[in-house]
Amino acid sequence: LHYQAQIDGSRITGAEALVRWRHPTRGIVPPADFIPLAEETGLILALGSWVLEAACAQLARWATRPHMADLAIAVNVSIQQFREPDFVGKVLAIIRRTGARPDRLKLELTESVLVDNVQDIIQKMGALKAKGVVFSLDDFGIGYSSLSYLKQLPLDQLKIDRSFVRDVLVDPNDAVIAKTIVALARSLGLGVIAEGVETGEQRDFLAAAGCYAYQGYYFCRPVPVEDFEALLASVEAGQCVTE
Ligand code: C2E
Ligand code: MG
Ligand code: MG
Repeated sequence: LHYQAQIDGSRITGAEALVRWRHPTRGIVPPADFIPLAEETGLILALGSWVLEAACAQLARWATRPHMADLAIAVNVSIQQFREPDFVGKVLAIIRRTGARPDRLKLELTESVLVDNVQDIIQKMGALKAKGVVFSLDDFGIGYSSLSYLKQLPLDQLKIDRSFVRDVLVDPNDAVIAKTIVALARSLGLGVIAEGVETGEQRDFLAAAGCYAYQGYYFCRPVPVEDFEALLASVEAGQCVTE
C-alpha cells in the first residue's frame, strides 16, 4: 500500500491508501492495470479485505504515537465489496481485530454505488457510520449521481474528480463545475476535498471557491509508509508541505 497525504489548510490530516502490485518482472503495476481484472474475477473481495486490514493495522500503529494518533486513512471500496451481504460485519471485525479507531477510517466509494439497490447501500453505510466510520464520495461529478439519492446517503465528504481540477484554470466549464460542487457540498452540509491538485495556482483557485482540503502531486505523491512518515516529520519540523 502506498499513502498519499490529504491536506486541510496547511496541515496533513491523513492519507489515502492506494494499492500497488509489486510484480517480480514488471515492477510496480498501477491499480488501473489490475483493479478492473480483480473486479471481473471476484478477486477484488480478497484484495479489498487485505487493503482494509492493512490500513486499519496502520491506523492502530499510528494511534500509539501521539503526533500521529489523529491521522485518518481513506480506503477505496469497490461496489462489489459493498454488495456483499456481510460487508458491515466484515469491516467491523477488521476494526475490532486491528484495534483501529473507527472514526479515523474513511471509506471512499464512487457514484457507481448509486446505480442499484440504493436502500441496501444506505442501510449498510448507516450501520458503519453509527460506529463512527466516515464516508467520502470519490471521483465526484463524472458518474451518475442522482441528487435525490445523494442527500439520502450518510456521506461526510465529496471528492471533486481530478478531471475538473486539472483544467480548472484554463477551462471555464471545469471552473464552474468545481465551484458548483463546492457549493453543493456546502449546502448539503458535507465536507469537500479536491483530488489531483498539481499546482499552487489550482490550490489557490479552489481555496477562493471555498475548498480547503486537497490531495495531489503538488503536496505529495503516493509513497510507501516510511516516506509518508518522513514527510510528516519534516512538516512538523516547520518545513512547508509543498517543498
Ligand atoms: P482514486 O481513488 O481516485 O485515487 C486517486 C488516483 O489519482 C491515484 O491513482 C493517485 O495516485 C492519483 N493522483 C493523486 N494525485 C494526483 C495528481 O496530482 N495528479 C495526477 N495525475 N494523479 C494523481 P492510482 O494510485 O493509480 O489509483 C487509481 C485508482 O485505482 C484509484 O483512483 C482507485 O479508484 C483505484 N484503487 C487504488 N487502490 C485501490 C484499492 O485499494 N481498492 C480499490 N477498490 N480501488 C483502488
Ligand atoms: Mg480514492
Ligand atoms: Mg478519485
